[in-house]
Amino acid sequence: MKVPFYSLDYVNDSLGRGLQAAFGKVLDSNWFIRGASCGEFENAFAGYCGVRHGVGVGNGFDALTLMLRAAILQGLLKRGDEVLVPANTFIASVLAVTAAGLVPVLVEPDRATCNMDPSKLERACSPRTKAILVVHLYGRIADMDAICKFAQSRGLLLFEDCAQAHGACLADDRRAGSFGLAAAFSFYPTKNLGALGDGGMVVSNDASLAEMVRTLSNYGSARKYENCYLGVNSRLDEIQAALLQEKLPHLDSWNSRRREIAERYRHGITNPQIECPQAPTVPESHVYHLFVVQCKRRDELQEFLNARGVETLVHYPVPPHLQQAYTEIRTTEPLPELRHGELPVTESLAKCVLSLPMGPGLRDDEISYVIDSLNEFA
Ligand SMILES: *Cc1c(COP(=O)(O)O)cnc(C)c1O
Repeated sequence: MKVPFYSLDYVNDSLGRGLQAAFGKVLDSNWFIRGASCGEFENAFAGYCGVRHGVGVGNGFDALTLMLRAAILQGLLKRGDEVLVPANTFIASVLAVTAAGLVPVLVEPDRATCNMDPSKLERACSPRTKAILVVHLYGRIADMDAICKFAQSRGLLLFEDCAQAHGACLADDRRAGSFGLAAAFSFYPTKNLGALGDGGMVVSNDASLAEMVRTLSNYGSARKYENCYLGVNSRLDEIQAALLQEKLPHLDSWNSRRREIAERYRHGITNPQIECPQAPTVPESHVYHLFVVQCKRRDELQEFLNARGVETLVHYPVPPHLQQAYTEIRTTEPLPELRHGELPVTESLAKCVLSLPMGPGLRDDEISYVIDSLNEFA
């Protein structure tokens, strides 16, 4: 049997002709950038997150960067301020802080959840620390009770990277994207809500911050040919917005199926060498963008599974602080590019994490085959 890591067939098939109809509607409208479909999807997705405003942008990285730049232009942050970011994340979270002219300060994860460890926030802070960018890694909501409390006690701004956590919630009114000043989403094709190309969104309850993101993403221009800021071109196109709008009503059921698969993995995998992620107290707070196990002999396990036709991936083999981009020492720069202490948990996770096949289209027989394969690993 061949089990792909992620298959889009099921997602696309279950929408029937809906995607084609959505495409046809945009084709007929002859309006391709930020038109009616984009506005409709911005409102629908912000509403889904329980937040008032949504601004469609080109991708998740731009959503992160523009959200932070908007906060700077509004005087809430200034260049060189430090932002606490998880050390264990996709590099985009960290790069966006750098791109906005801020200094990322890396915080160790909790070994069990792989998310930012709130007990490590205090010692990461300096007088220059002004914000936290929390990441709900693998689709699991971070420890928001502790993180929000810490942010509040220190007067730190709170931002979220929700690129892996569409729909995750602690309660109906506490959804990923609604915890801080603003949140960034990616609609990269393999995310839980994915476009057929690049896409992203900033959601926020702050109308003026949202407006600033809109302006920055459109050449710094709120009115045609009046450019007030050094903006960029990063807009969500009509076709992607229409396709995403078609997919949005299915997101909750796709996420439920992911949770079902996670439970089957958790109960079926009995090999003592393989550690499954613990179930969160609130089941809906994890949308399993990835199901990540830990194994000391990770590389051997991956090879073993590969030989049996089970495709797995590693998220992520090299943490951001060990990437060449951040190890070049540039003595000419007045500000450090990155600040961090020892990161033993992050570095050891990079050596033992393995992501199993996951997605709403994974069939029951495929799940059984993956479980049997894992249990046969000697
Ligand atoms: C995918 C991802 C991003 C970046 O999204 P793009 O749309 O690819 O730019 C940012 N942060 C995290 C955690 C991600 O998984």
